[in-house]
Amino acid sequence: MTDPISPKALDQLAEVAVRVGLNLQEGQDLVITAPVEALPLVRRITAAAYRAGAGVVTPILSDPEITLARFENANDASFDKAADWLYAGMAEAYNNNAARLAIVGDDPMLLAEQDPEKVARAGKANSLAYKPALEKIANFDINWTIVSYPTAAWAGRVFPDLPEDEAVGKLAEALFSASRVLDQDPVANWSNHNGTLRSRTAWLNAQRFDALHFTGPGTDLTVGLAEDHEWHGGASTATNGVTCNPNIPTEEVFTTPHSARVDGVVRSTKPLSHQGSLIDEIEVRFEAGKIVEAKASKGEAVLLKLLDTDEGASRLGEVALVPHSSPISQSGVLFYNTLYDENAACHIALGQCYSKCFLNGGDLSSEEIAARGGNSSMIHVDWMIGSAEIDIDGIRDDGTRVPVFRKGEWA
Ligand code: ZN
Ligand code: ZN
Repeated sequence: MTDPISPKALDQLAEVAVRVGLNLQEGQDLVITAPVEALPLVRRITAAAYRAGAGVVTPILSDPEITLARFENANDASFDKAADWLYAGMAEAYNNNAARLAIVGDDPMLLAEQDPEKVARAGKANSLAYKPALEKIANFDINWTIVSYPTAAWAGRVFPDLPEDEAVGKLAEALFSASRVLDQDPVANWSNHNGTLRSRTAWLNAQRFDALHFTGPGTDLTVGLAEDHEWHGGASTATNGVTCNPNIPTEEVFTTPHSARVDGVVRSTKPLSHQGSLIDEIEVRFEAGKIVEAKASKGEAVLLKLLDTDEGASRLGEVALVPHSSPISQSGVLFYNTLYDENAACHIALGQCYSKCFLNGGDLSSEEIAARGGNSSMIHVDWMIGSAEIDIDGIRDDGTRVPVFRKGEWA
């Protein structure tokens, strides 16, 4: 029987994860989180990391059966708790300059059958406990990256009509191709791709737009941009001086919206898979930056709870541009995974902003970021608003308009 997941492609993905995604430095420690099914990739990444001179590599594995065991058996009080000691340890590791690698691949609908109330409480307790560690990542203190692994459960959601082996093989192929690891020299290929993204962010940064105006079916949204916002995309340099690629794959260029200057209506163009639940056909209305009306055809209760997480959860922390012709979009596959789906379409994110998306962002205090319009929240949840039908204008301070996107492509 042939392996549905090519061992050679896994080797190349491990190499890209360590050399491009992390650009792991000699002597640097590494914290890996992964589903237990991704062990073949975890082992390869660990080997590649030690070849690159890693100090200590620490994998932390999760298992979907164990996650479900909690929802099915734990007493009510459990759902307000989280492993805060573990996240405190992670935060300490990052304080000591450890790098961070996440492998994603869990069943996107793992928790779909569970009580949304418990899912929300557990999610909130987790976000709260995770905040000290997440801040190091959101502030880009250290080099970090996310890659993915084609688990059987995920493949079954993406290709429900195929036998398991075939589904895993097809998902693997799609992931490896989107992650640009199938070519002869994937590391060189990534350096070209980073060059293209860099030329787009350079153009946007030179324009200094005051706002972006999105129009399309169900969408008429003006997204004011934060003062001193800066566009990023592809490789970027963490505060510790290491240039890395935080997402493998990545097709987006993104910046920080102004938390009080978003107005109008917007409709999602792809379902959002959030912590094991699916939220579909989201329609919201913004007033002065805040969502004042929200509905969804599926998962509305989860959406409303999410918006209710804290004050910043109903305001935007990110706006990102992705052409409809991106390879992930062209694959036509709905991955039910933000890492992929957000790189298939323009998107916005509720919640926490990235401080690196400001001029000299690394030097700004959280008060200074807030004063420039940067949003703060325990959550950061991306959802897709781009399609082949979306037009975007850049609006300058003096009101003049510049076409940025037409029919889903760079104008
Ligand atoms: Zn994004
Ligand atoms: Zn995001």
